[in-house]
Amino acid sequence: MSDYAAVLDRAAAGGRITPEEALDLYRSAPLHALGSAADTARRRRYAGTEHIATYIIERNINYTNSCVTACKFCAFYAAPQSDKVWTRDIADILRRCAETVELGGTQIMFQGGHHPDYGVEYYEEHFAAIKKAYPQLVIHSLGASEVEHMSRISGVSAEEAIRRIHAAGLDSFAGAGAELLPARPRTAIAPLKESGERWLEIMEIAHNLGVESTSTMLMGTGETNAERIEHLRMIRDVQDRTGGFRAFIPYTYQPENNKLKGQTQATVFEYLRLIAVSRLFLDNVAHIQGSWLTVGKEAGQLSLHYGADDLGSIMLEENVVSMAGAKHRSNRMEIIHLIRSAGRVPAQRATTYEHLLVHDDPANDPVNDHVVSHLSSTAIEGGTAHPELKLLASS
Ligand code: SF4
Repeated sequence: MSDYAAVLDRAAAGGRITPEEALDLYRSAPLHALGSAADTARRRRYAGTEHIATYIIERNINYTNSCVTACKFCAFYAAPQSDKVWTRDIADILRRCAETVELGGTQIMFQGGHHPDYGVEYYEEHFAAIKKAYPQLVIHSLGASEVEHMSRISGVSAEEAIRRIHAAGLDSFAGAGAELLPARPRTAIAPLKESGERWLEIMEIAHNLGVESTSTMLMGTGETNAERIEHLRMIRDVQDRTGGFRAFIPYTYQPENNKLKGQTQATVFEYLRLIAVSRLFLDNVAHIQGSWLTVGKEAGQLSLHYGADDLGSIMLEENVVSMAGAKHRSNRMEIIHLIRSAGRVPAQRATTYEHLLVHDDPANDPVNDHVVSHLSSTAIEGGTAHPELKLLASS
């Protein structure tokens, strides 16, 4: 293909592009033309609110690092027999939920390893306890990999597992574990995980049960450009049937403390191109999220001009990618500044992307620095595992 302009114009206007066209654009289209077309597609989709870019306040709660799956890119897990294994009890988890509410967070992401003993019952018990204590918190957590694991432990179908944890309090799936969906790169980095087809099958079951999700992609572990686009195709095909993916969130592999150490990461250039192609190719997915956590704040800002409409979250706690080397931290005031100085009006959003608070007047911006990422993370300097909130305590 040589006529990039015609394909970009079609995609920007809402027309569908083929995987072959997407790959050609990703490899070869001029960067600025690609970004401009993606931004046009974003503006068209959000006509009337195209001036807004969103963020959310949430907390990742890591309940255990014990994991039988041993993914090669992971710096978080410990083998179940290791003396490095830890688990958090329910009191600890509820305290973390309380702090989330106290700081204005609206969502928790329950995130942990594939513990050899944690079946459906474990998640039912914990989600029910969280919902009972904090019904205002949205539980946006887990993904197809956890469903596959817990259903195996409990000897039930994936459908039954989803029905039960949804009834207990899970609101939506975070889409964890997608990594790379095509078989070759997936097997290379996560040989013990379910196949990409199975991951999508479980997400489709969830969507058909009314449990929506986001979708993710881990970039930069040695996959080819064609495999990146194939990942997008696999998601788009399921989305055509279910409409259950609310968002697509690519993020970049971090090389520290894991078995893939030494391989190259995806560059900012590759990342921005993928954000743009995602907006153009995934014509059936509403939200494209930029990730300041893994690619940095400036690249996160730029993503808002390459098709992203959301800058993700201020994570009060995050350990999984931080342990692999992502050291970027931020706070609410800074996220607001990043979005505003990128030419957009910032808005705090809900899990389902409704605008909770539009920061359209800088005079009314929050003026305290309590809402800080990694406030209680153990994986990053400045975080704390101490049961008290340092910043609140010192105010
Ligand atoms: S990515 Fe998840 S499943 Fe894989 S080793 Fe880490 S904790 Fe386990």
